[in-house]
Amino acid sequence: MIKIILATSNPHKLEEINAINKNKNIIFDVVKGKFDPDETGKNFEENAEIKAKEAAKITKEYCLADDSGLCIDVLEGAPGIYSARYAATPEERINKVLKEVFGVPYDYRTAHFECCMVLTDKNGKVIHKETGKVFGYIDDRPKGKNGFGYDPIFLLPEYDKTMAELSEEEKNKISHRANALNPMLEWIEENL
Ligand code: IMP
Repeated sequence: MIKIILATSNPHKLEEINAINKNKNIIFDVVKGKFDPDETGKNFEENAEIKAKEAAKITKEYCLADDSGLCIDVLEGAPGIYSARYAATPEERINKVLKEVFGVPYDYRTAHFECCMVLTDKNGKVIHKETGKVFGYIDDRPKGKNGFGYDPIFLLPEYDKTMAELSEEEKNKISHRANALNPMLEWIEENL
């Protein structure tokens, strides 16, 4: 059995990671108590590294950090690494994005979710990294109740649904998080 501590205080991430992980030899737990290191990195990878190293310092266990966000092409990649802090509440963050892309024709509303995962050993040394993406469009209004964050405005043309209209199972097959976690799980199985 391999125990991995997730460097997050976001319960949605733990839920999704547990749902994606079908490997019974790998179990995830979270850092106990408040965990909110300063995300001072310039990109997802640097921020994931900061979080994984900090979690390893506290727990002395293998630690996995996920840094993720929404990147909108017409906004030059915003909100990007600022996705969680783009406005005060999830609704306000969605409304801010909708305002910023208002009037932009559908074809130019291309966007992607990105997830960078960094794994550290028990001493906090980075031992593996994976990045996953999923591509779509920003819809003109929120639709759907599932998922979290920007899911209600992220349209997947191949489903003609937003990410929040997909079932949990459907999201976890195609998401940026699944696209990073699946190869990460394979690496863990083979190397730890
Ligand atoms: P982090 O905790 O610093 O990685 O911030 C991630 C932020 O990006 C979240 O708070 C959401 O706003 C957004 N985000 C990341 N993954 C997803 C997702 O799967 N769906 C919707 N929003 C997401």
